[in-house]
Amino acid sequence: MSKLQENLDLLAGHLKQFHGRTLPHRINGEDVTSERVMQSRSPVDDSVICDVAEGSASDIDAAARAAQAAFPAWRDMPGKQRKKILHAVADAIVARADEIALIESWDTGQCIRFMSKAALRGAENFRFFADQAEGARNGQTLPSTDHMNITTRTPIGPVGIITPWNTPFMLSTWKIAPALASGCTVVHKPAEWSPLTARLLIEIAEGAGLPKGVWNMVNGVGEEAGRALTEHPAIKAIAFVGESSTGSAIMRQGSETLKRVHFELGGKNPVVVFDDADFDRALDAAVFMIYSLNGERCTSSSRVLIQSGLYNRFVTALEQRVNNLKVGHPLDPATEIGPLIHPRHLAKVTSYLDVAEKDGARIAVRGEAGEGDGYFVNPTLYADATQNMRIAQEEIFGPVLTAMKFDDEAEALAIANSVAYGLAGYVWTNDVTRALRFSDGLEAGMIWVNSENVRHLPTPFGGTKASGIGRDGGDWSFDFYMETKNIAIATGQHKISKLGV
Ligand code: NAD
Repeated sequence: MSKLQENLDLLAGHLKQFHGRTLPHRINGEDVTSERVMQSRSPVDDSVICDVAEGSASDIDAAARAAQAAFPAWRDMPGKQRKKILHAVADAIVARADEIALIESWDTGQCIRFMSKAALRGAENFRFFADQAEGARNGQTLPSTDHMNITTRTPIGPVGIITPWNTPFMLSTWKIAPALASGCTVVHKPAEWSPLTARLLIEIAEGAGLPKGVWNMVNGVGEEAGRALTEHPAIKAIAFVGESSTGSAIMRQGSETLKRVHFELGGKNPVVVFDDADFDRALDAAVFMIYSLNGERCTSSSRVLIQSGLYNRFVTALEQRVNNLKVGHPLDPATEIGPLIHPRHLAKVTSYLDVAEKDGARIAVRGEAGEGDGYFVNPTLYADATQNMRIAQEEIFGPVLTAMKFDDEAEALAIANSVAYGLAGYVWTNDVTRALRFSDGLEAGMIWVNSENVRHLPTPFGGTKASGIGRDGGDWSFDFYMETKNIAIATGQHKISKLGV
């Protein structure tokens, strides 16, 4: 039996839990349905997987109240105990990683070769933040001449977490694990186009011993359920991953209740390849970072800036690689690009073919939509682009790379920084001084030199400009989910000012 058939058989077994039912919300440890439903469809063949309860403001209200009621006990639970529960969540994710990967592939169109790792990354996120739960309240001691200042941190309260459809399982763990480790309770609103693994995740957490109401999940559309969450007075902060324009809307919606916000938004990330770069490694990394995960990836290298001495050779090599990419069924381990998430997204990605032509770019590899019911698309390579073209400015969020030429470092930096976004950057050069100088000037929150994107959990993750507000990872996550308090204790030398004596 082929590996694809084996995966399809396994998937059929796992999908039984979704077929023929309406996927409910999970509020205070109970299943809750709504009057209205939406449909979850697979991008592979457009088939309906199940109906999904479409949450309203009153569902969000119930979830926020549950999170509020559960907050004092979760906040006051010893860190050691929280750590144990969160490690149990990680163990349970590992135990169900194959199931999670198969369902995520079917629900999002992402290739199984990447989803298996993404499921395990979800477990690692829980382990990393579990290990910090005991020390999350730790602060600093800042003595002055007459006071001993002690800083502590306390969890901010119930928080709202709103996630997108790209690698939804991994991204949900990345936001929810630190919130729980810090002592916050959670209302999660997953993306409407990929609701399945959010359900698995909350079931896993409850099965691992998470008390009722600590984590609640409401499905629904952004403009209704998402909006209600951002406006709810019991919710103290919103951690959001998604489009920059949605971030602006959330800021407006949350302004009445003075929400603290943390945004991980879009990107148009440059890979900058200098003449002295290691050609083969740079080529591998540039191809991997845009064509893996269907290009539906915030840190994808969607622009490649190549120095003139290498340009023709590099673009020719890119063309060969892109023409070789294997588009196909995402459950086939050989597949490198699966179907895109939704017909609307497919239409957006392919609409840039006309845009590029009108703007005068060369379409080196033309990626049209595939045949059949699935939302398949072939990969695209645009070449000879210039910085003002829309394909060089806008986030396309598909398997689409825009190649541009530069002559010197100053020109490369000007092109790299000429976009609204500032999430990630990739620099390829063997000149360490130039690498440092260039990275220093690059407007991005995260830069990799001579490397693809490799995450190390203690390091800060986040973007500048239209790519985000705030950082995740390491202790940065706790800064967001917690309040810092200073306690100043007079040492005795301090003279109290007197009035009216
Ligand atoms: P999106 O902004 O359309 O939706 C994200 C989430 O926000 C969904 O759950 C949606 O229901 C909700 N939402 C929509 N409108 C809302 C509103 N008015 N109020 C509250 N919630 C609302 O994004 P998407 O299309 O699902 O995801 C793709 C985007 O996410 C891309 O731009 C990508 O770059 C970005 N992203 C960024 C990072 C990062 O770390 N910077 C990571 C992953 C994805």
